[in-house]
Amino acid sequence: MACDQETGFGSRPGESAGRAPWAMLMAFALALFTIMALVLPGASSAHADDNPGSDSPVAGRTFRVATDTTFAPFEFRDSSGQMVGIDMDLMREIAKREGFDVEIQSLGFNAALQALSSNQVDAVIAGMSITDQRRQVYDFTDPYFQSGVQMAVAKSNEDVHSYDDLRGKTVVVKTGSEGEAYAKSIQEQYGFKLDGVDQSATMYEKVKSGNAVAVIDDYPVLAYGIAQNNGLKTVTDKVPGGDYAVAVNKGMNTEFVDAFNRGLASIRQDGEYQRIIDHYLADPEANAAGQGGLLQLAKQAFPALMLGLRNTVIITLISFVVAMVLGFGFGLMRVGTSRVLDWIAKIYVGIFRGTPLLVWAFFFYFGVPQLIGHPVNIWIAGVLTLALNSGAYITEIIRGAVGSVDPGQLEAARSLGLGYGKSMQRVVMPQAVKIATPSLINQLVIMVKDSSLLLAIGFGELLYQGQQIYAANFRVTETLLLVAIIYLVAITLLTWLANVIDRRINR
Ligand code: GLN
Repeated sequence: MACDQETGFGSRPGESAGRAPWAMLMAFALALFTIMALVLPGASSAHADDNPGSDSPVAGRTFRVATDTTFAPFEFRDSSGQMVGIDMDLMREIAKREGFDVEIQSLGFNAALQALSSNQVDAVIAGMSITDQRRQVYDFTDPYFQSGVQMAVAKSNEDVHSYDDLRGKTVVVKTGSEGEAYAKSIQEQYGFKLDGVDQSATMYEKVKSGNAVAVIDDYPVLAYGIAQNNGLKTVTDKVPGGDYAVAVNKGMNTEFVDAFNRGLASIRQDGEYQRIIDHYLADPEANAAGQGGLLQLAKQAFPALMLGLRNTVIITLISFVVAMVLGFGFGLMRVGTSRVLDWIAKIYVGIFRGTPLLVWAFFFYFGVPQLIGHPVNIWIAGVLTLALNSGAYITEIIRGAVGSVDPGQLEAARSLGLGYGKSMQRVVMPQAVKIATPSLINQLVIMVKDSSLLLAIGFGELLYQGQQIYAANFRVTETLLLVAIIYLVAITLLTWLANVIDRRINR
């Protein structure tokens, strides 16, 4: 969980008004980087409590463990936004007994596996089944839960009773999961179409909304959701699959595997294991989160959504400052006299305007660690992604603005004896900034919205928090409505604030 410092950005818009906007920008940047420094160490860690002097070889170490977002009862968020579930409780209890810390990253199943492959994390605990294929790339701990897959359809569906009824219809599965592998193995025989998505919650929504007729998922998870009234019912027999275990990259983190196995044996022995299982499975209704009206939901979801909003605002503002620096720099290269610099700027714009944001998010977060053999902090990956993308657009905004200042202005300044640099700085740029401001504010708003794409790498922004909430309570429509309202209010306020600053500076 990120720590709780006050952020206090953008509080005194008018103070240095009328002076050089640069000074203000720099002060703003400085303030934001301070905030960033304060925020970084807290990025979504779940530290185990103090351990009573364990002599385990991993005592005192911290392991980064990735998990699925939405796999109740194994991992989900309770109404206060805490990651809970069988996997989480087992992991924390074992960490406590063995004296190590865990930093949980809730990424989604497929993304968790990618994070493991690129060494962004040390292990994956995500109701992950041991399969022969996976054994070739991962080492597993001892198994801790027996599982397998099953098919479910919408509660109201009276047409699909068996695999035979699936011909020509669409079945939804989770990308990279054992459910997907099973569906593929019978797909030809029963002639259905496959749709792969990232999360259990999305799969269930697809079935309920009629975009798919059936879902194949792990049966303990289906059973848990059905007990919570998620609108589905199972129609086929359970298909036994691999047991759940924690995975690490082959040959790596063997001390972690040993420690997990020792801890697991210890909690099995004294009954803690059974207590955790019973806590979630004996009475699934007891864990049912978020029933009640919209207001009730809003109240429950508020702390998590506000944390998300805070992360959205902070990463957007930091990225905006970096993007402005890039945009002004490259923008001036575009309008300057050097053809070489002009070309460099052109190439930069071409690359980042011509490629999707998400590609860069994956590149910086999953790709770069493989290149450099070192994990990349999620804030840094996020800022690079947003800033490089927006910087390209701001470059063009600046080029356009400078271009629309009457060329006579520069000539007049130069004929008065000012050099090129001084003429640009004193005469052309102030007018260009004024022209560019509305477009820059527009770009800032676009960035707020684009930052939601970072949920794909598990960055805890607003929409990500919303997903985490509906993954646990299955109230997708209402949760998304709340998220949309918060974005709208935040963006309206931000635009208003930006316009106030604009009026002060560009009077
Ligand atoms: N048990 C399944 C697998 O290992 C699904 C895991 C998950 O969706 N988190 O593929």
